Amino acid sequence: QAKAAGRNTLRFFEPNMQALVMARAELEAGLREAVTKEQFCLYYQAQVDGEGRLTGAEALIRWQHPERGVVSPAEFIPLAEETGVILPLGHWVLQTACRQLAKWAAKPDMAHLTIAVNISARQFRLPNFVEEALAILDHHGANPQRLKMELTESVMVEDVEDIVAKMTALKARGVGFSLDDFGTGYSSLSYLKRLPLHQLKIDQSFVRDILSDPNDAAIAKMVVVLAASLGLAVIAEGVETEAQRDFLARQGCHACQGYLFSRPLPLEEFEALRLPR
Ligand code: C2E
Ligand code: MG
Ligand code: MG
Ligand code: MG
Repeated sequence: QAKAAGRNTLRFFEPNMQALVMARAELEAGLREAVTKEQFCLYYQAQVDGEGRLTGAEALIRWQHPERGVVSPAEFIPLAEETGVILPLGHWVLQTACRQLAKWAAKPDMAHLTIAVNISARQFRLPNFVEEALAILDHHGANPQRLKMELTESVMVEDVEDIVAKMTALKARGVGFSLDDFGTGYSSLSYLKRLPLHQLKIDQSFVRDILSDPNDAAIAKMVVVLAASLGLAVIAEGVETEAQRDFLARQGCHACQGYLFSRPLPLEEFEALRLPR
């Protein structure tokens, strides 16, 4: 019988497969515990304009694991999305970023900075996402104009009407939207004109070899032209060298984020960054 076979499947797993399943279960349990124990923190990575002046930061989550040290989001965000842990986690990220915005508003040299927060598709699709985000902004007294939300094309796969309505409602309050990892998804270009976006973000996979790979250069150029024709701003991520920055600037992309300016840093280190303002 199928059911019985299903129950016994584990027995027939390769030993390494079983180890994998156990490691996953362990990671999931660890993640849930980490949410209640607040083992997460935000790192901040500089975003600069064409003159190299600091305009804001992208908030990037890190898990401060009691045994493993700092764990990168690449290792736990996919599982957090699958299991739904991303919902409480995403809520925590928004709260923490808004609290930080309010604190910066009181510091003359930080008051103009924006914070860009990555919002998972699953989180954005929550029926009450808009109300929740506005409540968090309100609660911390953060200026919505200083908050940017980074969405990926994956948010567009279903119910675009609903996505547009949510973005429009948040935009009306001043929240900006950036389309992250642009060009790596499989979505069509036709939705682009419907979304109330502010910015396209050129994915780092196109920036890495922009000087040596004509295809990457062509795609980066295309994104810059597309952004301009749609009246959107554009920013490049993963900028590591002056040469990449110059190339992008010659194409018309002046805003940058990458190791050339700063790695993602713990709050205190970010605040101590000596970049022109
Ligand atoms: P992302 O949003 O595309 O973030 C950019 C990633 O590129 C970050 O990796 C950043 O550290 C890295 N990066 C920045 N500049 C450079 C550079 O010059 N060279 C190279 N090689 N890499 C650079 P990170 O911090 O490991 O984050 C990975 C991904 O995890 C993010 O990609 C984002 O999709 C996700 N993520 C991070 N924080 C959050 C969060 O709070 N919520 C959600 N839902 N996802 C998050
Ligand atoms: Mg991002
Ligand atoms: Mg990105
Ligand atoms: Mg990326």
